[in-house]
Formats: sequence, C-alpha cells, structure tokens
Amino acid sequence: MRLGVRHALVGDVLIHGDVRVEHGRIAAVGVVPAGPTGLAAPGFVDLQVNGFGGVDFLAAEPPDYRTAGAALAGTGVTAYLPTFITSPDGAYDRAVAVAAAAAARSGPRMLGVHLEGPFLSPHWPGAHDPRQLRAPNPALIERLAGAGPVALVTLAPELVGALELIEALVARGIVVSCGHSDADAHVAHAAFDAGARAVTHLHNAHRRYAHRDPGLGGVALVRPQVTVQVIVDNVHLAPEVAYAAFLCARERFCLVTDAMAAAGLGDGRYRLGSRDVEVEGMSARLADGTFAGSVLTMDAAVRNLVALGATEAQALLAATRAPARLLARADLGALTPGLPADVVVLDDGLEVRATLIGGHEAYRA
Ligand code: ZN
Repeated sequence: MRLGVRHALVGDVLIHGDVRVEHGRIAAVGVVPAGPTGLAAPGFVDLQVNGFGGVDFLAAEPPDYRTAGAALAGTGVTAYLPTFITSPDGAYDRAVAVAAAAAARSGPRMLGVHLEGPFLSPHWPGAHDPRQLRAPNPALIERLAGAGPVALVTLAPELVGALELIEALVARGIVVSCGHSDADAHVAHAAFDAGARAVTHLHNAHRRYAHRDPGLGGVALVRPQVTVQVIVDNVHLAPEVAYAAFLCARERFCLVTDAMAAAGLGDGRYRLGSRDVEVEGMSARLADGTFAGSVLTMDAAVRNLVALGATEAQALLAATRAPARLLARADLGALTPGLPADVVVLDDGLEVRATLIGGHEAYRA
C-alpha cells in the first residue's frame, strides 16, 4: 500500500517521495513518483493524556479506552500514556489495572501509565487535590508497578526521600520527570544527577524562572539529556516563552497535550479525577481559575509550534522522536523501513488526513 504523499519525515528532515507500507510495517520511503500533496510523519506520541473524547482515564472502564483511543487517533496520536493525577490510593490501583487490561486492545498503543503525583509540592499543586499529596513512598510505587505498566512518574524532587525514590524508579526502568515542584537549581541538578530525565509541563506549576534563581525549568532547559515537556496551546504559556524554550531545548523539546476529557468535545463542565472543570474555548479551569489540564490536541500543538517559528520537521520531531526517545522506544517515532507502520498522514496545512497504527487504518478524515 502506498500513502500517496509528496513528502515524509525521515530522520531529521522532510524528504521528497511517497511511503510504502507492507505487512504492517514501513517498507520504503522516498518512493517515486511522489504523491501530489501532503506528508507522512511518524504517529504522534503523547506522554500526558488525562482523558480524551469524553473519557477521564482515572474513572475509565476498559471499553472507554476504545472510545478515547478512536478520538486520539483522529488527532494523529498512535501511542500515549494515560495520565493519572494525584488521587486517593484506591483510585490508583483500579485505574492502573484497567489501563493494563486495555493495553492489548486495538487503537493507539498504550505505552504504560504516567503517574503525575502524588509526591508533589504543596506549594505547586495546580489542579491536584492538595489533601491527597503525600511524601515519597516507595511501597506505593512498588504496589502500582505490580498492578500495571508504570512508564513515567512525575514527582517533586525537593521532597524528603525523593532523590532516593528517583534512583529506585530508574533502577526499575521507570522514567522520572520533575514537576509540580518548588525545587531550586541546586535540587534540580541533584534530581537530574540521580537519574530524572525530564520536566513536566515546563514553566507551569513549578518555581518560577528568575534571573538569579532559575529553578527546575531553568536547569532543565540547559541540561543535556533532559527532555522538556511543553503544552503549546498559547494558553499555558505565552507564545514567546514556548518558543524560547524550543530554541533552548531543540531536539529535547517534547510536545504534550495534558489533555483532559473535554478534549475534542467543546465547551462545558467536565471531570478531571475528582475535580470539576469548566471548559471554555482553549482553557480548562477549576472554579477558582486554576488550570486543570488542557483541551489541546497533538496535531494542533504541532501547528502551533510551526506558527511560533519551528520548521515543520522540527515540530513533528517534537511530537514523535522526542517522546519516543524519553521512553527509550527506538521502535516508535520514526519512519524507518522495518519498523511498525505507525503513521500520520497530514495535508499541506498539517491537518490530519489519516492515521495508521501497525499498518491498520485507525482514522480517515
Ligand atoms: Zn500537572
């Protein structure tokens, strides 16, 4: 099967030519004759998805993953981490077990879960319920990692016991991202030295960047090997701030949506875990005005990053290779012959025309 595209993202660049898919895998790139328009890119990988298409993953049953997955595929996503915000203990066990049961179903690949909390700073809870925040507790992580695939944990590294927990998580193969944190630069360096490899939603819900106190975000931006995850919806960050972060981090810059259940649906009242959220336009907020996730989609994030000044190839890499690398998934995030055909086909305006997962069409506009 040929995709009929004019260009494809191969390695770092858009090359001329079509893409051929056979037996669920990329068979060839740069195929002539090229299609008349459009481009093929690796499917988008979203590391922070609280919910989507009306589904809140914390409360989801296995069939809900099919609903959310179909909606995610419509935005070009072929792999993702359902993300659970800070919750009572029992809610985690159930949600992790449901995610594990849903992993084998069709639709975008569920690469494991992202536990955002509960080991977060009481100074920077964002939309997380402050009453549920806890001190680092290796036993809780042990239990949850036994119940299902925990891929990523966001924690505040300044909490007592956090650095030891980072080392333990890394030893288990779990990626650690720092966020919802009051860490200063010294602690941030210590966290990255201990093995943390990312920062969660840069410049949101952590100590502010200041010229003599760069904090977690300032350190993450200049540390080699540290991925900065950024919500590029022009609401969470001013466009100039997002673009400055991109210019700093380049191939370490990773687009995430932090989407919640309302993503893809429109204005109204929704749930994020146990919190009520009001969605209006591009903003999702608690009653007191605190941001509560987003209604951003990955395809829109890519278009937004291009509008800021990144090239199409750079923006696409931030939605594909950067997240795949953080999770050490060399089989994802690239259009390399032999790899699974997880592909998004975009038109010349970067709108999604079709999404393939393992060569199967999961979405067509
Ligand atoms: Zn958050």
